[in-house]
Amino acid sequence: MNADLHCHSTVSDGQFAPAEVAERAHANGVTLWSLTDHDQLGGQKEARTAAEALGMRYLPGVEISVTWASRTVHIVGMNVDPENEALLAGLEATRNGRAARGVAIGEALAAVGIPDCYQGALRFTDDPDMISRTHFARYLVEAGYAQSTSDVFARYLGDGKPGFVGHRWAKLADAVKWIKDAGGEPIIAHPGRYDFTPVEFAALFDEFIQFGGRAIEVVTGSHTPDQYREYADVARRYGFEASRGSDFHGAGEGRVDLGLLPPLPDDLTPVWERWL
Ligand code: AMP
Ligand code: MN
Ligand code: MN
Ligand code: MN
Repeated sequence: MNADLHCHSTVSDGQFAPAEVAERAHANGVTLWSLTDHDQLGGQKEARTAAEALGMRYLPGVEISVTWASRTVHIVGMNVDPENEALLAGLEATRNGRAARGVAIGEALAAVGIPDCYQGALRFTDDPDMISRTHFARYLVEAGYAQSTSDVFARYLGDGKPGFVGHRWAKLADAVKWIKDAGGEPIIAHPGRYDFTPVEFAALFDEFIQFGGRAIEVVTGSHTPDQYREYADVARRYGFEASRGSDFHGAGEGRVDLGLLPPLPDDLTPVWERWL
């Protein structure tokens, strides 16, 4: 079983259409796949059709942006019903405000001498309501302000950098409830990416469990190999089920390609076992 349960398409901030992502996953040996665009289920039909035509098992997915303790946390919703109305309404409310935030990011960057970024970023997406920092990063690289998207985040768009504009996303309790009520399983995405103290991590995990959460990503393209081990230990300590996903966005972006991560440690319970 080569499961890759986290990646993005042009429906959010990926470079390839859902069917192209499916082909790439299949070419890399993925047998169980999920497309998890940010706050958006618009790619699910195309993803499922393409996956099944290629002989891959498909699980509908989404990655919800959450504000927890004033910081951004991502919650993957796995095997959700993509037509569930409360989930669709919640995602729409979560996306709402991306356009205004994009304008504010453009103004913040103009104030440090980098003009016209909002218009520039819009060239990388059709939908102003889906505009994300990734689109700004692609523009800033293309315009020569940075070497790579990770360089852009380190210098301009990361927390506390000149182009960072705070935003209120969904509440953790709401995101977990939307996912569970849509028949899905909430998974804390890439915990190693959050700049939390041990006390904050414990509070996040405890709240997540209290709301009914029981799974975290362990092996993800957003973790280093050291973090695979660190969050495998967290999964053991909390009794969490574990997930695996590349968080693939496009060629030359991110650490690993679809399907090419190491397997989960043998002693962990894969979150996908119940759907096989
Ligand atoms: P947003 O939802 O608009 O705040 O954008 C968040 C997106 O930016 C994430 O989903 C990633 O695709 C991307 N991102 C965040 N941090 C980094 C980073 N350090 N390097 C590259 N991409 C990043
Ligand atoms: Mn992204
Ligand atoms: Mn994420
Ligand atoms: Mn992601």
